[in-house]
Amino acid sequence: MHAAPRGTQGMMGPLDRIVVAGGGGFIGGHLVARLLREGFRSVVSVDVKDLGEWHQLHPGARNIRGDLKDLETCRRVTGGAKWVFNLAADMGGMGFIENNKAACMLSVLINTHLLMAARENAVERFFYASSACVYAADRQTDADVIPLREEDAYPAMPEDGYGWEKLFSERMCRHFTEDFGLETRVARFHNVYGPLGTWDGGREKAPAAISRKVATAAVSGDHRIEIWGDGGQTRSFMYVDDCVEGILRLFASDVHEPVNLGSDETVSVDQLVSLVESIAGVRLTRCYDLGAPKGVRGRSSDNTRILDLLGWAPSTSLADGMTTTYRWVLDQVHAGGAGQPPAGGAGHPPAGVDMRSTLLAG
Ligand code: NAD
Repeated sequence: MHAAPRGTQGMMGPLDRIVVAGGGGFIGGHLVARLLREGFRSVVSVDVKDLGEWHQLHPGARNIRGDLKDLETCRRVTGGAKWVFNLAADMGGMGFIENNKAACMLSVLINTHLLMAARENAVERFFYASSACVYAADRQTDADVIPLREEDAYPAMPEDGYGWEKLFSERMCRHFTEDFGLETRVARFHNVYGPLGTWDGGREKAPAAISRKVATAAVSGDHRIEIWGDGGQTRSFMYVDDCVEGILRLFASDVHEPVNLGSDETVSVDQLVSLVESIAGVRLTRCYDLGAPKGVRGRSSDNTRILDLLGWAPSTSLADGMTTTYRWVLDQVHAGGAGQPPAGGAGHPPAGVDMRSTLLAG
């Protein structure tokens, strides 16, 4: 039976079309799964990757391979759609975004063309996945963090490349609402993790990378782990189910301004490693690479606004979320061996690629 996402009852029928851009990706794949579980029967999932590389391929959705940088493709896939969720971007962990700034900024074409197409096709509502990387680095220099509030994004000095694109695209959404009346919702994700995501290959982020290293050490018996930075950097990590729940709650709300969507449970990288060690039942010797990309020193989400506006905030504990995540990564390591293609189909590093852990991009 059809059950609309919380708060959206009456907004949509089960046959109304929903487009998920980036549906072959980590969060997009989980969002498609949730929409199908909710009873929506016309979900269109679009991604530039070959279908064989999608993290999740749902037979209940219409799965389309297409490049959303292309305006014509955006027009075609959003035709007849009522809702569009844009989770498509060229992105990865800190190791990727620090070395691929132009590629990150080119994702501006995806959101711009999707917005233009959505307007032309009279889409009713549009979601954009922004990032904590919109916040200025000089507010994130201390591991003992002051959680980031939404208003801290201005005056603007975001993460170079990736963060600038996110902030610009946020404003594009705002002006499409103000000038053209297209309803947009924007969430700033803070470090999302969980099963069925990238766990190796260079784009993976700290929770998956640390899980892979611990699992590989446990399986191989080589009890060493390499960590980027000195381990004292702090972050908060949001479990993917909370992310999807937050997307749908924000989407159903009448909140137009960008909202943090993240956990406020702050940990250091060393604490995250200790947590995964205890889940795996191993103790590893830590080697710190102080020259590796580290990102900002400390970052966490201030959840005052989301609690005020939605009466809800992410609540899955890191211990619970990492237990599920570690078990999934361990299965991938068992299935393919570290460095081999995972059972879910995500890419793997070519021979000789350094598989060190990455800090999170967003
Ligand atoms: P992901 O890389 O797993 O998914 C993004 C998907 O977009 C990929 O499958 C990719 O193939 C697809 N894509 C890239 N370019 C495309 C194009 N031209 N046309 C069509 N598809 C294209 O990343 P994710 O973790 O699922 O992130 C989803 C969104 O959330 C992104 O916008 C990302 O920037 C944002 N975000 C994620 C995090 C996080 O921690 N995962 C944090 C902050 C923001």
